[in-house]
Amino acid sequence: RELTVDLGSRSYPIYIGEGILNDIAALFQKHGIGKGSPLLVVTDEHVAAHFLDRVTGLLSAAGYSVASHVVPAGEPSKSLAMLEQIVATALEAGLDRKSTIIALGGGVVGDLAGFAAASYMRGVRFVQIPTTILAHDSSVGGKVAVNHPLAKNIIGAFHQPEMVLYDTATLLTLPDREVRAGLSEMIKHGLIWDADFTAWCEENADRLVGLDPEALQYGLYKGCSVKAAVVSQDERENDLRAILNLGHTIGHALEAVGGYNELLHGEAIAIGMVGAAKLSVRMGNPEHIYTVTKRIFQKFGLPVSIPPHLDTDEIMRAMMHDKKFNEGQIVYIVPTEIGKVEINKNVSAQWVRDIVDQLKRED
Ligand code: NAD
Ligand code: ZN
Repeated sequence: RELTVDLGSRSYPIYIGEGILNDIAALFQKHGIGKGSPLLVVTDEHVAAHFLDRVTGLLSAAGYSVASHVVPAGEPSKSLAMLEQIVATALEAGLDRKSTIIALGGGVVGDLAGFAAASYMRGVRFVQIPTTILAHDSSVGGKVAVNHPLAKNIIGAFHQPEMVLYDTATLLTLPDREVRAGLSEMIKHGLIWDADFTAWCEENADRLVGLDPEALQYGLYKGCSVKAAVVSQDERENDLRAILNLGHTIGHALEAVGGYNELLHGEAIAIGMVGAAKLSVRMGNPEHIYTVTKRIFQKFGLPVSIPPHLDTDEIMRAMMHDKKFNEGQIVYIVPTEIGKVEINKNVSAQWVRDIVDQLKRED
């Protein structure tokens, strides 16, 4: 399957298919990527063990000069220190302004390698090869960043890739918990945009969790399509793009208070989306928005309640830090129906606090 992220002269293709990593050299040739200048593959140690030799092997067999840089797996690698090391490897390998950096991995590698590509020599080209389900979200849209000890994703850029190459066969080695957490963002893309796709996700929960190739390809295709549609209408998050943050207000706070090791991102936003649905009902929208949302996440074995030991005051403080309340009010993405959301600019902080308390007692 193929789709295009429509951004005028910076439009790019997303290829999704089983085994398409084997076509990497042909796809690079087709899009004129990497001619004449060295390539750099950035990946993490888990992904390297499975796929790095294959990628560098295929590219060098096709005549490309290719170097690689492997970072430790995990969120701490999204740091300025790691960026500096990547730049060192890039310089040693002779990367120049016509070079291309290839992100082979999940969202951590995508954000890190993408920011390296955005900043090395004021910007070189880059290609995303996502290897997690979550990365169907992070590899599309051009947001790239590293973290600072005081704040996540705070040093970053908008830098669109030349191409996204999504081989669903690479997902077979993903740990089950990462699979479910990644599917949480897929469900989000349904909830914000497309009721039929949401229903399809629910019906196909077992196939998706079981990594059925056909279900995965369709689900990732639809998820990427929603992301692409939103991003093409609002590349730099002036307004519409904010809807992609459904569930993220509570979700980010839960990740932070859990010390970024208790809940995976996808798990935290599943709870956040149940919270947003509760808020919606409290604002007068129909009850089924909440019951359906909760039922879907339960079908995927994702959490729908806040671990009770996470302190409500701390969660609220983290939220204020993340989102800036104005006089007790907060901008919040609220579902108005399954498949539809609104950007509500005056949600009361007290209501959000009530929801957080209720989410601790959810069963
Ligand atoms: P990740 O990149 O850390 O991957 C999760 C784990 O799976 C890691 O241990 C990784 O080594 C391992 N892994 C990856 N692919 C594998 C494979 N095929 N087989 C076996 N193991 C594999 O995490 P993630 O969930 O993909 O991404 C999370 C990151 O994405 C966060 O830093 C978040 O901020 C970022 N993100 C960015 C955007 C964006 O728009 N740029 C959007 C959402 C999330
Ligand atoms: Zn997210």
